[in-house]
Amino acid sequence: MSRKKEKIELGEVTRETAKKRFKKFPLAILPVGSCEQHGPHLPLDTDAYDAHYVATEAANLSKSPKPLVLPTLPYGISLHHLGFCGTVSLTPQTFINLVFEIAESVKLHGVKALVVVNGHGGNTASLIAAGQMIKHRLGMEFYIYEGWSGGHKRFGIPGDVHAGGFETSTSLAIRPHLVDREAIPQPVKSSFPIPQTNFSAEEHIGFAFNTDELSKTGVLGDATKIDIEKGKEFWKRSIENLVAILEELRKHLLRA
Ligand SMILES: [Zn+2]
Repeated sequence: MSRKKEKIELGEVTRETAKKRFKKFPLAILPVGSCEQHGPHLPLDTDAYDAHYVATEAANLSKSPKPLVLPTLPYGISLHHLGFCGTVSLTPQTFINLVFEIAESVKLHGVKALVVVNGHGGNTASLIAAGQMIKHRLGMEFYIYEGWSGGHKRFGIPGDVHAGGFETSTSLAIRPHLVDREAIPQPVKSSFPIPQTNFSAEEHIGFAFNTDELSKTGVLGDATKIDIEKGKEFWKRSIENLVAILEELRKHLLRA
């Protein structure tokens, strides 16, 4: 008789299963993304899909009892992309409250650590703020996993921060049917307010921007630099790294 596959998505299990699982592995994974323009060629849900993909693949590859993955947060902070159609954004205040209240709920069910798998750079600052509140007010552990931050560097395309060669390759690696190859734009020269704001500047300083002021295509980077093999390699690494982190956290939480 084949053993029934252990489910990993909170939405797919009963309350009794959730109760048992949180008891055995008191951790919850929250994938967060965005609904925002990704150039003329990539789907709007790229960041949410990617976060959900990494989180569920890693949970599935984990040993039993496997961690539970909460429903994906499909919206994030995309105020800078609102100049392009299809973008739907939360304000940082709302987003911080959402993440905090999700943590507050799962804490009631015995969860001791929340691991956010973040698919969107615009969410990072607010996730750190939410994490500080969660740690301080709830006494819960909080972790942010952003596989793409190292992946971007390995692609080595200067200033490739949004819907460029990295995201086009990683999307082609897992959802080729949703990439409009005909629409992939040539790179445009962005006009940065001062040279230090250029994403590839050595002395880079952070700054607030609207994407449509920097790029008329909505792409920041070079979407023509496609490498599907590197894209596949990126996913493999991101998933394996998260599996290893989850195993460490399992030991750590069971020790605590
Ligand atoms: Zn993206």
